[in-house]
Amino acid sequence: MSRQRYVIALDQGTTSSRSVLVDHDGHMVDFVQRPFQQIYPHPGWVEHNPQDILFSQLGSLTELLQRHNLDEKDIAGIGIDNQRETTIVWDPSTGTPIANAIVWQCRRTEPIIRRLCSDPAVAAKIQAKTGLLPDPYFSASKIAWLLDNVPGARKRAEAGELLFGTVDTYLLWVLSGGLVHATDPTNASRTMLFNIHTMRWDPWLLDLFGIPASMMPEVRPSSGEFGQTSYPAVPAGIPLCGIAGDQQSALFGQCCFHAGQAKNTYGTGCFLLMHTGDQAAKSTHQLVTTIAASAPGVGHTEYALEGSVFVGGALIQWMRDELGIIHSAPETEALARSVEDTGGVYIVPAFTGLGAPYWDPDARGLICGLTRGTGRAHLARAALESLAYQIYDLVDAMQADAGRQLDVLNVDGGASKNDFLAQFQADILGKPLRRPENIETTSLGAAYLAGLGCGFWDGIDELEDMRQKDVVFTPQMNPGDAEILVNGWHKAVQRALL
Ligand code: ADP
Repeated sequence: MSRQRYVIALDQGTTSSRSVLVDHDGHMVDFVQRPFQQIYPHPGWVEHNPQDILFSQLGSLTELLQRHNLDEKDIAGIGIDNQRETTIVWDPSTGTPIANAIVWQCRRTEPIIRRLCSDPAVAAKIQAKTGLLPDPYFSASKIAWLLDNVPGARKRAEAGELLFGTVDTYLLWVLSGGLVHATDPTNASRTMLFNIHTMRWDPWLLDLFGIPASMMPEVRPSSGEFGQTSYPAVPAGIPLCGIAGDQQSALFGQCCFHAGQAKNTYGTGCFLLMHTGDQAAKSTHQLVTTIAASAPGVGHTEYALEGSVFVGGALIQWMRDELGIIHSAPETEALARSVEDTGGVYIVPAFTGLGAPYWDPDARGLICGLTRGTGRAHLARAALESLAYQIYDLVDAMQADAGRQLDVLNVDGGASKNDFLAQFQADILGKPLRRPENIETTSLGAAYLAGLGCGFWDGIDELEDMRQKDVVFTPQMNPGDAEILVNGWHKAVQRALL
């Protein structure tokens, strides 16, 4: 009988790298987390040292293996989920990156996007091919910037001497001993260079951004063998057999395998994704169309719509750290329940503008409806409610774009642990909310993809059966009352728009 008892997810996030051990029942047995340095060379610029990414990730992996006394015979496969869009260019002959990674948050390439994409016809063509709205966020302009600004880089790239990768690709390349230069469709779909209909790097886009095709990784299915470990500090011969960008990984980890299923992650920001089956739904509400991770054997590309809220849990942090009216984020739950309602107070946390469906970068935050009786409990409640209203707006937009209704909203992320927020969200959506016992769905998704990719699990039915002990929040509010509250929110948003 096989000794292989586990799969491992390498969860490479923006501020830390984690390695997560998952057993055959789908339980997260243990994890090791290593934070790494954020580099801010100029206002608006964000970088990571690729070596920091690598060594924090490998350090967490080797510590996890040592802690449980595991070797290659115990591990059926490794999956990777990663911060998306972050861009690394390196020289495969030495393995050395030509510069620091440009992180997804970095805004340095705004002038490139303005120069290349300000013609509405070009922007429309980019959206039609990639499902994305042109933005410095995606990898394309970041690669162009590196080629134009690192001395000699363009020449070397044109001579076929440099490789590009998102973080998954870089980790895979290093872990496979430099043998495999590949990515998966979920990560490829965030580069703004990948045609999500033909499933190929798009020559017109590569040309627009001046990127040689020889730099681009091969795109392989998210679940299936990419290669095997071959790196000094790591046991050799473990299959590397699952890859997905973090949000698509969470969608998979939530067992959203079919059209109409959706998840929202309530973290610092919020990310809502709805599976749209084999339909690449085009958004008319500033959402992006992206590729969902697929189980082996699906036989067609699966798509998702994605929308994000810039300020989610960050609003709670702001109330704790800047206003000082709460001591901890979890405290907001009891505070919110200590009052019957917000007393008419709304908070619109448009600190950095408003995203979909409003899309106003100049909007600014506001608190309205204050009276002499307003106290910190009302503000805490209004803050939690504002997270729910923002998700309400995104769900509304997504249902319109997808042409279908959501049945259930699956939730995860740090703030999803707040039962008041979860119940209020269910109430104003008028739909049930489902929170899995294990809200670490991002790493679970990578573990599932790896486990399916190496035959550790047989198929998605087995994964669905493993999913137990969800907490379900069913709507309790009268729909008329919910409508009145949502109308109040929309009035508040109108005041925040510039
Ligand atoms: P990220 O992965 O984006 O860093 P997490 O998923 O760990 O974030 O969630 C952390 C965020 O959730 C923080 O912004 C924090 O303010 C918020 N948060 C955590 N716990 C709660 C809670 N019980 N109630 C409300 N907000 C919370």
